[in-house]
Amino acid sequence: MTSMNTAERLAAIRGGAKPKRHNARTIAALTRNPGCARRAVLDCAGIDKQRLAAYVDFPARFGQSQFAIARGNAFEAQVKADGAAELLTLLRERLGLSIPEVAYDDLASVTGREQESPEVRYARTRTLLIRAATGAGDAGTLFDHPLLRINVAGQPVYLEPDLIAFQAGGRFHVVEIKSFAIVDGQADAGKVSSAAIQSAVYVLAMRELLAEAGFDPEIVSHDVVLVCPRDFSNRPTAVLVDVRKQLAVLRRQLGRMTRIDELLAALPPDLSFDLAPDAAGVPTRDPAAIVTALRAIDARYTPDCLAVCELAYFCRHEARGCTAALGPATREALGGIDRVETALALAHDVLPPAEEQAEAAALLQAAARLRAEALAGAPA
Ligand code: SF4
Repeated sequence: MTSMNTAERLAAIRGGAKPKRHNARTIAALTRNPGCARRAVLDCAGIDKQRLAAYVDFPARFGQSQFAIARGNAFEAQVKADGAAELLTLLRERLGLSIPEVAYDDLASVTGREQESPEVRYARTRTLLIRAATGAGDAGTLFDHPLLRINVAGQPVYLEPDLIAFQAGGRFHVVEIKSFAIVDGQADAGKVSSAAIQSAVYVLAMRELLAEAGFDPEIVSHDVVLVCPRDFSNRPTAVLVDVRKQLAVLRRQLGRMTRIDELLAALPPDLSFDLAPDAAGVPTRDPAAIVTALRAIDARYTPDCLAVCELAYFCRHEARGCTAALGPATREALGGIDRVETALALAHDVLPPAEEQAEAAALLQAAARLRAEALAGAPA
């Protein structure tokens, strides 16, 4: 077999399907579990994990409802209508930003552009952002759907955000439009936190792009603009969110990911997730073969996976009985004890601990004693 480069190998692993494009949500989720080789390989190969999970009979049970997606799209279209007129009013009036008259450039909507390769679209985004950064007169300052790029496990990954980046007063800001409401100045903390980490992905990608071109990365502000419906109306409001903390977390997590070529080197050379659809698009590959392929890549299941990864139910089933599946705190506390049945046997003193298990065994036995005392004292 002729040796393939990393991109060719990833394409072979994906098979004939079109690669699934990343967005900030997928990058943010990927960095929640940087030690998982399975997710890193599947995501770098652009594999549709949702489809794969359903095919092996462990469908994902998270994601936005169709209703929420439709509502989000309608709100976004409203904010961006007429050259983002409503957004500009918000930026000027509510945030007090002095923004001159601006040009609006939608990097995705020109006929035929959708057919362009990511490399070509990225190059166009790059040219326009650099022109704006150098202050070239007609460059325009509002960019819709820029195609960005970020390095994940040593592999460039393209991001197609539904966002606008604007440049004013020599600085760029990322604008994230979300459909959850801000009521009396307050919003759901979990949703704001997810929006902040997703925006941080775009800030990082824009900083990398401009830094490569010789600009100070700080030219992209760490204050992102979050636009949401106000109170119970569909009128937009905007707030600035400082994402410095999220940027630090992202950098650290991305830095912890093993390089993709090292991961690929350890995998079977014929590994493939091609569902081999027939002429009608119906997959012909045996689901058992896909399960075997999945098992060929090490996973690192944690309960957190249930909220962020489409393969969570498959991986949870596979990790049944492993102490690691109970979460990082348990894994650390039970260092050296991999199986739940071993932990139980040590707790009940029916298995003599190995030397490296002695400390954990003493803790387990103390916990078992406390539990027994608590149960004995509980009212019938
Ligand atoms: S669900 Fe599985 S593939 Fe996804 S991050 Fe968790 S362990 Fe990795």
